[in-house]
Amino acid sequence: MAERLHTGERMLRGIPVSAGVCRGKILVIDKPRHAIERRAVLEAEIPAELSRLQQALVKTREQLQEVQRQLTQSLGPGQASIFDAHLLVLEDPSVIDEVVRVIQEEQVNAEHAFHRVTDRYIGALAKVEDEYLRERATDMRDVSGRVMNNLLGVNEQVDLAHLTEPCIIIAHDLTPSKTAQLDRKNVLGFATDIGSRTSHTAIMARSLRIPAIVGLKNASETLESGEYALLDGFNGNIVVNPTDQTLFEYGQLVRKQVSLEEKLRDTLNQHAVTLDNHRIFISANIEQAGDIEAVRSSGAEGVGLFRTEYLFLNREHPPTEEEQYQSYRQVAEALKPNPVVIRTLDLGGDKLLTALGIPLEMNPFLGWRAIRYCLQHEEIFRAQLRAILRASVSGNLKIMYPMISGLDELTQANAFLAQFKAELRKEGVPFDDKIEVGAMIETPSAALITDALAKRAQFFSIGTNDLIQYTLAVDRMNEKIAHLYEPTHPAIVRLIKRTVDAARVQNVWVSVCGEMAGDTVLVPLLIGLGVDELSAAPPLLAQLKYLIRRLKISDAKALAAFALECESATEILARSTALAQRVAPSLFDTKT
Ligand code: PEP
Ligand code: MG
Repeated sequence: MAERLHTGERMLRGIPVSAGVCRGKILVIDKPRHAIERRAVLEAEIPAELSRLQQALVKTREQLQEVQRQLTQSLGPGQASIFDAHLLVLEDPSVIDEVVRVIQEEQVNAEHAFHRVTDRYIGALAKVEDEYLRERATDMRDVSGRVMNNLLGVNEQVDLAHLTEPCIIIAHDLTPSKTAQLDRKNVLGFATDIGSRTSHTAIMARSLRIPAIVGLKNASETLESGEYALLDGFNGNIVVNPTDQTLFEYGQLVRKQVSLEEKLRDTLNQHAVTLDNHRIFISANIEQAGDIEAVRSSGAEGVGLFRTEYLFLNREHPPTEEEQYQSYRQVAEALKPNPVVIRTLDLGGDKLLTALGIPLEMNPFLGWRAIRYCLQHEEIFRAQLRAILRASVSGNLKIMYPMISGLDELTQANAFLAQFKAELRKEGVPFDDKIEVGAMIETPSAALITDALAKRAQFFSIGTNDLIQYTLAVDRMNEKIAHLYEPTHPAIVRLIKRTVDAARVQNVWVSVCGEMAGDTVLVPLLIGLGVDELSAAPPLLAQLKYLIRRLKISDAKALAAFALECESATEILARSTALAQRVAPSLFDTKT
């Protein structure tokens, strides 16, 4: 995979997902562990093995307590309680006694004994019916991984929330929950073996403004902690041991980016109006109430997508109605009178929530997720909808349902909403009775029945990340088929057009909140197809405004007309790219 260049410089190529260049020391986490060696020890060496085991247990306990302390500080005690179960595993006498016995009786090294015993427990726990016990298998796997690293002296299970020096993180995978914990101060950038542009890890990198690359295939195996590297998030390259010449070239790239950012600053507070006077609304996608400042400084005219599932990540129990109310109220109040679209819980796919104990499924993206889960879990849906309703008096909130695939789901969700409104009315709790309700259009079936959905919703938001995945049958997480994940596929163009047309009939607003909305190359096409609003990560919004202010709606419409007739995704992409590059060439200077 690595391209070997002159003078020891090596380059790895992946998929660029978050712009920016950084350089620094590499830290490889979760490096694939090779088979654990079984080593015979002499009788005289047994006390030393037992003491190594003891030290590893103590060190693991200290590390867990430290992570817990930091999480309590940053996110509150509720979130940190997840580590209580981890700590309990370390104290389980049945496990520890058995490891000691294996070391003594079989005269083997501590790693081997520990691995063998915990593996057996994990295997047994994973098979039991009881959901609670099954979850303990996950805790035990996490803890035993930490103990093994301490025994082997491997600095792996790094506490990502607390790094001691700035570094570039390299991992096989970073789950959205791990990404949420990243120590922003010390993470210069990150790169993973797997993933694609629309995996949630990539989405988070963009909103955190961390340069990132995914889909590097085997970087976590070939790179070593401590190596010096340069990460180019514009083009998807990692250069290990960069030469002076390479550093100089990248220095120029960074300068171009800085001068572009200066240009963009002027656009920040202007409206996105085309040269021929067509206004597009520009909103932000956020993950937590803490993103308010980023929204304010991005020039956003509201929040087009609040991904509330991040409130549920990294914690043992789901957030209460009151906790959720506080988050939604804070955002509503801070951004009023601008609208804030709160999407109800969209768990599933790559966002697996420990708090809800969802079993692993064969096809998580097609499974028991999002609105499907909420409609079957009234208590979860109730807490969330009541929290949104209560917060609705503090600003301009809207409710949006994810993953609608049929009309019944929208009708049922609305019936729940009416029920919870009636409850609040009875309790004398104020709320905005006219709160708008929208449906995400992210399944082909929803796009094909937008005429029916439009009669029961006030707005649509096209979730292109999923719409592309489901329409083209291409897993959005899988880097091996990333080339098939084509936003300009004629099927996608036609579904977007169909959605806009159906919406117009009922006077329904159409936003796009998938990653397509933040991609300057694709924006002319979306606008030409007639969408009203684009919602993307805050750092991308200035570019969108800059581009739209240089574009003519007539040219965008001509492009869309061409795309609707065209049979080739590549040709549509080429035309849209050409238009974007013609009107705003400076936005594309950082591509090599
Ligand atoms: C989408 O699918 O386009 C979307 C915005 O939702 P998410 O990326 O959270 O699945
Ligand atoms: Mg989606």
